[in-house]
Amino acid sequence: MVDGVLDGRSCADSIMFDLAKEVSELAELGVYPHLAVVIVGDDAASHIYVNAKESACARLGIKSSKFALPESATMVEMESLINELNEDIDIDGILVQSPLPAWLDEIALTEKILPSKDVDGFHPVNLGKLVQGRVDGLLPCTPHGVMKLLEWAEVELTGERAVIVGRSRIVGMPQALMLSRKGADATVTLAHSRTEDLANLCRSADILIAAVGKPEFIKPDWVKEGSVVVDVGVNRVTDENLAKGYRLTGDVHPAAADSARLISPVPGGVGPMTIAMLMTNAVFIAKNRKL
Ligand code: NDP
Repeated sequence: MVDGVLDGRSCADSIMFDLAKEVSELAELGVYPHLAVVIVGDDAASHIYVNAKESACARLGIKSSKFALPESATMVEMESLINELNEDIDIDGILVQSPLPAWLDEIALTEKILPSKDVDGFHPVNLGKLVQGRVDGLLPCTPHGVMKLLEWAEVELTGERAVIVGRSRIVGMPQALMLSRKGADATVTLAHSRTEDLANLCRSADILIAAVGKPEFIKPDWVKEGSVVVDVGVNRVTDENLAKGYRLTGDVHPAAADSARLISPVPGGVGPMTIAMLMTNAVFIAKNRKL
């Protein structure tokens, strides 16, 4: 690991290496994991994410099938596609790429996916198992990836003060549960847009996790000397000097690296971990369903 860098790419590579071996062992037993990816509309970023997920599948030898629906897709069409995928005995995991057009109810659609095929780990049954501290559920990929990255970097969590900024259903909230569960044992504060004196709260964190969705929102002087910072944010900032017209930046100002003992880069931090944990879930589901 490069000094000071929580290198998600290297950590994800080692997870993918082990998964590739597992996938080829499963193939010898006649088990082939199969992921269904549903995407609606033409959002460029969503298509980039879906392509990355499909190439991760290809790299591991996992079968993936893409279902691309037009922007005009209705709830009825989405529900009927999800029902078909639930009933298809060959499909292991079902993923609906977010965000969806405003008239599609993302939470209602998540509930339509069979909990046993919920590769994103967003179904209430799987989130409920996380709350109960059970290990037989499917975990949401991004916060699970953060936990794996911290473990890989041998970051001690027991009794440490963790501050998470952002309480979304897919990142911040499950992250708080994972960091505070027995065995991880951090003491967690979950901050959000109504939190007062956020700068001082962040300064108290041994482990600071930013999942806000605002470019460079966490300022360098909010970061405690010697702390560990995980930047979940992925923000597109217009930059006309670049051929693609934008650059990616996180939720943490890059100069925070001067105070942090470890900090995850954007890109190359949490992003690759999310994909590695998605693949982990896909293989886990296939083993449960097909072995
Ligand atoms: P959401 O928009 O769902 O949630 C953002 C959270 O930040 C909310 O809880 C909100 O508070 C909080 N927030 C907003 N403004 C402030 C503020 N001024 N002070 C304190 N808290 C604030 O975002 P997501 O959780 O979906 O994503 C967060 C970031 O992570 C995004 O950049 C996203 O792109 C990235 N992401 C990256 C992934 C990866 O694989 N690397 C995967 C998923 C997300 P409130 O609840 O009060 O509104």
